[in-house]
Amino acid sequence: MTEKLTPARVRFAPSPTGHLHLGGLRTALFDWMYAERTGGQFVLRIEDTDQKRYNPESLNSLTRGLRWLGLDWQEGPDVGGPYGPYVQSERKALYEQYAQQLVAEGKAYRCYTTEAELEELRKANKEYDRRHRWLTPEQRAALEAEGRAHVVRFAVPLEGLTTVPDAVRGSVVVDNQRIPVDPVLLKSDGMPTYHLAVVVDDHLMQITHILRGEEWLPSAPLHVLLYAAFGWEPPVFVHLPIILDPSGKGKMSKRKPVVDGREMPVFVSDFMQEGYLPEAVFNFLANTGWSFDAEREIFTRQEAIARFDVKDISAKATALDYKKLEWLNGVYIRALEPAAVKTHLLPLVA
Ligand code: GLU
Repeated sequence: MTEKLTPARVRFAPSPTGHLHLGGLRTALFDWMYAERTGGQFVLRIEDTDQKRYNPESLNSLTRGLRWLGLDWQEGPDVGGPYGPYVQSERKALYEQYAQQLVAEGKAYRCYTTEAELEELRKANKEYDRRHRWLTPEQRAALEAEGRAHVVRFAVPLEGLTTVPDAVRGSVVVDNQRIPVDPVLLKSDGMPTYHLAVVVDDHLMQITHILRGEEWLPSAPLHVLLYAAFGWEPPVFVHLPIILDPSGKGKMSKRKPVVDGREMPVFVSDFMQEGYLPEAVFNFLANTGWSFDAEREIFTRQEAIARFDVKDISAKATALDYKKLEWLNGVYIRALEPAAVKTHLLPLVA
């Protein structure tokens, strides 16, 4: 008998800046499995507030890749849903409203530091020095009279500890003095930064579990502080272990690693073009950072879903074992009906 879990709302929140990398694909897969396991919802949200990096083409390749792996979302930019829009650039007014709320409550402030002044700080190897955190109304009026633009910065508490509730690592406790000095929430063009947008959206979209790569763990204390500033309950954080390249020495990058003289796939488009079956890739990635059990390597989606729980995800970085992927792909290909082999192979040889 499997334990009954409360329906979870999870989201995959990529920035559409390039092709979908297998790290992102693994995050989406774990999201999907958890939504399925709990009878909850899987939400796709596009984080495109960094306009300089936005690439509309990659949104298509992203959705194509997720569907190829069979990861369907119940809410998202193309299917809609009760908490839309699901593209952050279409939610600009919302973020502005929440930033202003924090300013009005004294939890964030307008900072008028110019680009040239920031550059001086950078050259001197200094962090922002909170110079506009405690301005008097007269000082603020004088800076505005100069016609200076402003950003909104979060007033990070100067003391105390912040606890990140992480399902994989337990509680992660951080001294507030180690959090970057007063990060920007709203840029001078009114666009939110990732930190503001992610917290506002995860709250408004009623996300219960944030599954994302471990590289976001250092941002989590700031997010927890933002939840507290708004008076909101933070979701459960689930930081997934880093995926290492096959040598186990470095983080998987965008460069294709070479195994036995062959370049290995790293983007979902590579798997699609090089003849991998989605079932094999699913099986392989599901077992990367989570394990079905100590012995069994081959399992179906349904079998994985029935066992999957975020609390069983490992905190340890895992090296990608491409030989296992090749072997699994062979197993799944050999199990295909002859007609299906033909359908699968034809586009590859055409
Ligand atoms: N937009 C971030 C990314 O591109 C998402 C981080 C998160 O899941 O909070 O990976």
